Amino acid sequence: QNFTNWRDTSAFGEKVAITDHSGSHTYSSIYKNSKHLAGLINKALACQSTDLQGKRVSFLCANDASYTVAQWASWMCGGVAVPLYRKHPSNELEYVITDSQSSLLVAGQPFKDTLEPLAQKLGLPCVELPITSCLDSLQSGDTQLLPEDNISDWANRPAMLIYTSGTTGRPKGVLHTHSSLQAMVQGLVSEWSWQEDDVILHTLPLHHVHGIVNKLMCPFWVWELICSLSSRVNVFMAVPTIYSKLIEYYDQHFIQPQVQDFIRTMCKERIRLMVSGSAALPQPILERWAEITGHVLLERYGMTEIGMALSNPYKGKRVPGAVGIPLPGVEVRIMMNTNITIAEGNCKGTQVKAGLEEREGELLVRGSSVFQKYWNKPQETADSFTEDGWFKTGDTAVYKDGVYWIMGRTSVDIIKSGGYKISALDVERHLLTHPDITDVAVVGAPDATWGQKVTAVVQLRKGTTMTLSELKTWARGYMAPYTIPTGLILVEEMPRNQMGKVNKKDLLRQYFPSPS
Ligand code: ATP
Ligand code: MG
Repeated sequence: QNFTNWRDTSAFGEKVAITDHSGSHTYSSIYKNSKHLAGLINKALACQSTDLQGKRVSFLCANDASYTVAQWASWMCGGVAVPLYRKHPSNELEYVITDSQSSLLVAGQPFKDTLEPLAQKLGLPCVELPITSCLDSLQSGDTQLLPEDNISDWANRPAMLIYTSGTTGRPKGVLHTHSSLQAMVQGLVSEWSWQEDDVILHTLPLHHVHGIVNKLMCPFWVWELICSLSSRVNVFMAVPTIYSKLIEYYDQHFIQPQVQDFIRTMCKERIRLMVSGSAALPQPILERWAEITGHVLLERYGMTEIGMALSNPYKGKRVPGAVGIPLPGVEVRIMMNTNITIAEGNCKGTQVKAGLEEREGELLVRGSSVFQKYWNKPQETADSFTEDGWFKTGDTAVYKDGVYWIMGRTSVDIIKSGGYKISALDVERHLLTHPDITDVAVVGAPDATWGQKVTAVVQLRKGTTMTLSELKTWARGYMAPYTIPTGLILVEEMPRNQMGKVNKKDLLRQYFPSPS
C-alpha cells in the first residue's frame, strides 16, 4: 500500500474493490468515476474562478462506493475531504460545513435535497454524484474533464478533516495529512496481517475513523452477510454496541441448535479477524461473542486524532479488558502530573520506572499517524501537545501484566471519592455482570462530603426492577467497598451517540444540574 494508490489503481484494475447494495465495483471503475467527479468539481469551481487547492470539500454519501468516489475526487482536485454523516440533522451538517469552511459540497444520491438548501443558504456550489449503480456505465468520453495532476509533495498535504465523536463536547475537526493516514494503514496492515484477498464487512457509517454505530442497522442483515454461503467476508469490525445488538438478535432468533452450530462453524472457518474498539468492550459481550462464534474479539484503542495506537495481538493471547501493546510506528507514554514518566514503550517493549509499577497516569502518544492540528482551534491544539511533541490523549491508562489498560477519560471516568480514585469503566465492567443490567454508565455525582459519589445510570432487562440497596447487596460479593455505587438512576434506554458512546457530561448535567 502506498499513499498515492488512489491516484493510480492500475495495479488492481478489474478486481472488485467494493460490493454494495447496487452491485460490485472494480478499482478501475471507482477510479474513473472519481476522475469524472473531480472534473465536475473543477468545472463548478471554474465558474467561480477559483480552485480547490488545500480547500475543504464536504460530502454526504450513502455507505456505499460513492463515498470512495467523493473522497478520491476531493483529493484529485487537491482538496481536503470532509465526510458528513447522513443521519445528522441539518443544523449538525451546517455546523461541520461552516466549521470546516468548506468551499464546495458534494451530494451523493439521495442527499441532493438535504444539501441543496444548505448550499443555497451558505452560498456554496453543490455537485451531485451519480447513483452507484451508474458507476460502471460511465463512458470513456465522460472522463475527459481530468484535472491537472501537477501537485507535488502529496505526503505532507492535508487530506482529511474528520470530526471527533462529540462525546465530550462539540465535535472537533481533526486534520490528517496523506502521510498520517498512510501511517495508520501501515501499522494495521502489518499488525493485523491484512492480505490482498481479505474481504471486510463494513457496517459502520463512513464519516469516522472507525465508522459509526448505525442505529437502523439490521442485525439480521449482518448475521446473514457473515454467515451466508456465498459471502466471502473474512474480516469484521464493530463497536461494542453493535456486538451487543447482534448478540441480542442471536439470543432472540437463533434458538435452534442446528442454526447455532451452523453460525459457529461459518464464523470459525471463514472469518479470520473480528475487532472491537472505539469504546471499552464489556467482558460479558466478549465472553458471549466467544461462545456464539468461537472468536475472542480483538480489542484495540484509538482516537480520531491518532488513528489506532494500541492493539491486542492478531496472533497470540488477547487479554480481556486490556488493549494490548503499541502498534508498529506508535510510541506511548504513561505520565504522572505531566512531568514524571511512569512507563514508556513501543511495539518492541515497555520500560516501567522502578517504584512506579502499575501506577495510573495520562496516556501520551507520538508517531507519524498523529494528526496535524484541530481545525481552527490553535489553543486546543497547543494544549493537547507536550513541549516535546507528545499528544495528550486525555485518557487514563495503566501498564500491567505486560499490556496496557484504559481506565477511561481523565475528565469524566476517573471518579474521585473520599480520597480514592475510581475508574468508572472498571465499575461498569463489574455491574455489567449483573444478570438484569443490560447497559450502564457510571458517573461521579457531585457530593459535598465525598467530593464525588459513584453513581450508576442503569438500563435494566425488560420486566425487571432494582433498588439501590438491592444493587449494593449484590455488589458486596464482587466489588471493593469504595467502588460500590451509592447512587442509582434507572433509564428506559441509555442515551448513546452515533458511535455508541455515552456523553457523561450531558448525563451529569441532566441529573445533577448545578445550582445557578
Ligand atoms: P470527542 O473528542 O468529540 O469528545 P471522542 O473522544 O469520543 O469524542 P473519538 O476520537 O471517536 O471521539 O474517540 C476516541 C476516544 O474513544 C478515546 O479518547 C477513548 O476515550 C475512547 N476509546 C477508544 N477505544 C477505546 C477502548 N478500546 N477502550 C476504552 N476507550 C476507548
Ligand atoms: Mg476525543
